[in-house]
Amino acid sequence: MMELSYQSMKIAHEAREAEEVRTEMRKKNLLILIYHHLLGQGYVAAAVALDQETNVGVRRFEVCDNIDLEMVLMEYESYHYVKFQKYPKLTRRAAEPGGNRYARSGGVKKSPCSAVKPLPKISPSQKPQSGNGVKRTAAGVNGQITDGKSTIGIDSDHMERLLKPLSGFSGVNGEMRDLAAIISRDIYLHSPNVRWEDIIGLEDAKRLVKEAVVYPIKYPQLFTGILSPWKGLLLYGPPGTGKTLLAKAVATECKTTFFNISASSIVSKWRGDSEKLVRVLFELARYHAPSTIFLDELESVMSQRGAGMGGEHEGSRRMKTELLVQMDGLARSEDLVFVLAASNLPWELDHAMLRRLEKRILVSLPSSSARQAMISEWLPPLNSTGGVELRTELDCKTLAEEMEGYSGSDIRLVCKEAAMRPVRKIFDALESHQDGDANMPAVQLETVTTADFLEVIAHTKPSARSLMDRYTAWETEYESV
Ligand code: ADP
Repeated sequence: MMELSYQSMKIAHEAREAEEVRTEMRKKNLLILIYHHLLGQGYVAAAVALDQETNVGVRRFEVCDNIDLEMVLMEYESYHYVKFQKYPKLTRRAAEPGGNRYARSGGVKKSPCSAVKPLPKISPSQKPQSGNGVKRTAAGVNGQITDGKSTIGIDSDHMERLLKPLSGFSGVNGEMRDLAAIISRDIYLHSPNVRWEDIIGLEDAKRLVKEAVVYPIKYPQLFTGILSPWKGLLLYGPPGTGKTLLAKAVATECKTTFFNISASSIVSKWRGDSEKLVRVLFELARYHAPSTIFLDELESVMSQRGAGMGGEHEGSRRMKTELLVQMDGLARSEDLVFVLAASNLPWELDHAMLRRLEKRILVSLPSSSARQAMISEWLPPLNSTGGVELRTELDCKTLAEEMEGYSGSDIRLVCKEAAMRPVRKIFDALESHQDGDANMPAVQLETVTTADFLEVIAHTKPSARSLMDRYTAWETEYESV
């Protein structure tokens, strides 16, 4: 008898313990779900706070592809509707009227086109401020966006542009919403974080990009009628010359929502869904306007060779058509959504697509002075990181001349290789350093000299010099304006 009751108590105790573990796990799962949802929606600070305050290490977990908070919420909404014939009211506390919640970030209420700036009064004799002034106009960019449901703060000190919650993304069914959630997670780039001054050289390309995209976003009043902005812009030129950097700089400096998609991945990754994905991508871009959609490697999907060929995959043909339709839609609308496409092989592009990319900008190989600036930027006389000092003594002018035809990314690689040489020499010393002693031995790196650099150049060759003539010939033939 005693024995039995002891056994049953033990079982009951174990069951209680198991239930407590399950409850804890449920709580933790919910926290993980909320954490990833916040991240996916762009509420990075809130997600970090949640991770720190809950102290259960939520950031270490991933959520399965087929589960997200949006879905859990939608299921709850449907359940509520079935049970009470009405949708639940989900609310969150808004900032108090006149309250100072956003005062620190210069809170100004804005329309979704938050980057729009009132025109300053300038007399004709006044010189315009040097270009890229978005970051300096704090009152113009800091603030909040309201979408009627919730309020999102934008802090210009943090370069991330926050996304509005998808719950306000109307006009799409459940499947589209799922695609929208995927785009927000995989294609929306949280923080491009590239400034104009980070791009070395390319003065002409920068000026043209500013004229075509940046100023229409900042001064929409000016760009109406005949001046209405280009909606499609093609950046073409050799690989590694800064096309992606230019697109990211537009997004950073104008605080536009930046959707970064490599054209080839649309097809390979999304196959049958790629057409729908393109549609939702453009809808989302309009919803989060002002936006830039950056289509990289455009020739891989919009090449003439594929057009009309019997062998072309039906899904990919439909996706191309959808892309053209969406771009037509943009051209007719007032939405501040810009398509920036990049291509290394513009002569392969489909003509229908080219017509929609009215503005074409050649992003050329760096000039001699730009090459010089790159070397001194990436290998300054003294570079000290992680407690190790790397010194250089370089004749940048000579080296720049030696590197004619090199692209920006070629030059960066050469600089990296040159910096690696003295580091390679100390590996033996580091490796023979006694195990178990965590401290690095004091090491002195040899100075990188012009001779070292020239040796690296001798073992490399520029990746795109031979194509340069073809780009300029194409530029003459297809120059937009
Ligand atoms: P692509 O033209 O192929 O899009 P990217 O913009 O991706 O080239 O540039 C590749 C890398 O090369 C950049 O991340 C950067 O490190 C370097 N780079 C190329 N051009 C420049 C430039 N003009 N200024 C600064 N860095 C550059």
